[in-house]
Amino acid sequence: MARLVMKFGGTSVADVERIRNVAAHVKREVDAGHEVAVVVSAMAGTTNQLVSWARETAPLHDAREYDTIVASGEQVTIALLSIELQRIGIPARSWLGWQIPIRTDSAHGAARIREIDGSELVTRLSRGEVAVIAGFQGLGPDNRITTLGRGGSDTSAVAIAAAIGADLCDIYTDVDGVYTTDPRIVAKARKLDKISYEEMLEMASLGAKVLQTRSVELAMVHRVRLQVRSSFDTPDAPHAAYGAGSDGPGTLVCDEDEIVEQQVVSGIAYSKDEAKVTLVKVEDKPGVAARIFGPLADNSINVDMIIQNVSDDGKSTDMTFTVPQAELARAEDVIRKAQAEIGCKEVKTDTNVIKVSVIGIGMRSHAGVAATAFKALSEKGINIRAITTSEIKISILIDGPYAELAVRTLHSVYGLDKQ
Ligand code: ADP
Ligand code: ASP
Ligand code: MG
Repeated sequence: MARLVMKFGGTSVADVERIRNVAAHVKREVDAGHEVAVVVSAMAGTTNQLVSWARETAPLHDAREYDTIVASGEQVTIALLSIELQRIGIPARSWLGWQIPIRTDSAHGAARIREIDGSELVTRLSRGEVAVIAGFQGLGPDNRITTLGRGGSDTSAVAIAAAIGADLCDIYTDVDGVYTTDPRIVAKARKLDKISYEEMLEMASLGAKVLQTRSVELAMVHRVRLQVRSSFDTPDAPHAAYGAGSDGPGTLVCDEDEIVEQQVVSGIAYSKDEAKVTLVKVEDKPGVAARIFGPLADNSINVDMIIQNVSDDGKSTDMTFTVPQAELARAEDVIRKAQAEIGCKEVKTDTNVIKVSVIGIGMRSHAGVAATAFKALSEKGINIRAITTSEIKISILIDGPYAELAVRTLHSVYGLDKQ
């Protein structure tokens, strides 16, 4: 007997027919004698609709009310799934975040889970009741509903798995695993059998939205075994059941020691959520970087890439940096207020840029990975605007229109294309 968390995303619960299919996946595991907690998202498109209603009512609104609105989508799907499970003879009940409770901090719209009391869930699971839990939501310190940021149901699932000591957390979605890059962009992308927590963390934070970044962080810290798999697989296929064989149906996110054949590069990610800010003719003297980045940090603006050009005359230079698009307006405001003190001529911004990243643990021990990327991009005439690297990744900022070409080029230059 195992204890399982099964998480189903928006497309997997998009309508009543899809919900019946989810119930069939759950039934398979219950019939095999396992204890099952299910975490579900809102129906596909619902959260977007709720967000747009909030914005339409008032672009700047109370974040607590925003959370109350957007958390409602999951309330519908937990109850529908519970009803369907009961209909097919499986004892089940729905749980909202506050009923467990899933306690979070007070950062409405992007709350972090602080603690989950899993004791009541464990008692009920052991009696054979399936717990159907609303993803994406929690309860803040002031007893208000919070949400965990877009895609947050993945994080709910991993946190529940850690709290109840689950043997496996299965993330059912609309693709059958984690691929070497987004399979919707590159048809030649290959499914990975396994990926290390570290690489998955980089992939997610650099744009691969198949898992929310925070869910991978939590899985890594609590050593939760995490599998990404498809809800579109036939529920009674022989390989579908838990423990059906050593090779699961999806991609296992696990410790790097478990991966026998380690590639130098495991994947390519991209993010369109970048904005570039250039300060033209900044005085080239000590302390200028501090005067630019100090106020940005004071305003909690996340600066990612930074490049300072060499000055021709020794007096002035251009300074470029990137921030998430959502923070551009604030960043621009902060810089303009400090412009006189920084001593720069002009501030330019550009949102038509994308960040492409090459990720692989093998980079720790292999030289020349970055050079390969630069050469391949230059051969396609793609200009590099900024670069950042870490031990296991290289990120390159390029102009927006080259996004797909760059991803495809890098994917094939590192030998990731499906044969
Ligand atoms: P869900 O609604 O189930 O949470 P998401 O839309 O959040 O599903 O995530 C699944 C999507 O992630 C896929 O449809 C795919 O387009 C995208 N994706 C991006 N990068 C990758 C990748 N490297 N491997 C697999 N899927 C990826
Ligand atoms: N329904 C939420 C969203 O669309 C949470 C999730 O799907 O993970 O962002
Ligand atoms: Mg998702």
